[in-house]
Amino acid sequence: MYLSFEQLTKRYGEVTALQDVTFGVERSEFVSLLGPSGCGKTTTLLLLAGFEQPTSGRILLEGRDLSELPPEKRGVGMVFQHYALFPHMTVAENIAFGLVHGVTKRFSRSEAMSRVDRLLDMIDLAPLRKRKPAELSAGQQQRVAIARSLAPEPRVLCLDEPLSALDALLRERLRLEIRRLQRELGLTVLYVTHDQEEALAISDRVVVMNQGKILQIGTPWEVYDRPATRFVAGFIGKGSLLDGEVVATGGQIVFKVTSGAKMAVPADCWCGASPPRAGHRLGVLLRSERVRVTLSNDEDGRSDSSRLGLSGRLEEVEFLGAQCRLQISGPAGNLVATAPAAEIGAWQARLGSKVTVFGRVDDVRLVPW
Ligand code: ATP
Repeated sequence: MYLSFEQLTKRYGEVTALQDVTFGVERSEFVSLLGPSGCGKTTTLLLLAGFEQPTSGRILLEGRDLSELPPEKRGVGMVFQHYALFPHMTVAENIAFGLVHGVTKRFSRSEAMSRVDRLLDMIDLAPLRKRKPAELSAGQQQRVAIARSLAPEPRVLCLDEPLSALDALLRERLRLEIRRLQRELGLTVLYVTHDQEEALAISDRVVVMNQGKILQIGTPWEVYDRPATRFVAGFIGKGSLLDGEVVATGGQIVFKVTSGAKMAVPADCWCGASPPRAGHRLGVLLRSERVRVTLSNDEDGRSDSSRLGLSGRLEEVEFLGAQCRLQISGPAGNLVATAPAAEIGAWQARLGSKVTVFGRVDDVRLVPW
């Protein structure tokens, strides 16, 4: 493994910011740390960069324990949400700064200038090279900050919520740009975000964290489709997450939800580590795009062996563009469904109606409580 975090724990007095955090990053991999505020994402980066020391555990980069190295010798580049460009320097001088006052290696003036030219081309800012930061838009400033951190060829690039100060459209455009740069240069990136959509869109793998601990590590599809815990199921993606109970196990898992609806699903619908036991509570996840909703008059709402039927009342229809999202309340809990706007947009006139949400057996996911 190129970069390894081994049983990393960090305490600040009474606060445990990280507990036993262990994961690895391959060379040229893009890994996101995803979790709510205060879960320990930034602390992980600060320990890697050497700005904080772990209480216990260690970090290895290419097999070498980083605790032996001061921050300036680690080869870790950092970009923060609030980029600190030097206001009195031009764009080109800002990017060149890390090269001339280099940390990983020292570059001659001519080498430095040709690297700056190449980076300016890559971030599409060559014509603005003589401007000062105050003469740039927020998105342009952030691109300069990224180019500046890339200039000295860091062994690992850490990006801490680099886009969260920007508007939604710019965020989407810049995240594509960051991904393109990462691929072109073969960069190893650790990317911190609390935005699940951003993490899923940009990463090779996602590390989901909460309260200083890792809950799941996987590809975007794995954490979305097979969340390992109830927290991950609720934090990532949209869906109905219902309170359920295991009735029986064997070749299949039989469960019931609080409304009484019961169903048998294949054992591989279970996303947890150790198998569930009869009587255990579990979370029943139905992703919003995989359920079908009918007005109850249209169809009988009972479950059968191929689908789980949940009745409810249509509370809200949100128009999202191509799709609409339905918010439904029912005896099993709050339900969410999405469907093409062309099919259900007109349901805005049916608020308060009885509806039935159907989940097919293979689309049900059961998660540890
Ligand atoms: P955010 O998304 O809000 O930046 P985060 O996931 O990056 O959050 P951290 O900044 O790593 O979270 O903080 C983890 C925990 O450690 C939090 O409870 C925080 O209050 C605490 N913490 C961080 N730095 C210190 C410090 N210097 N002294 C005391 N507690 C700290």
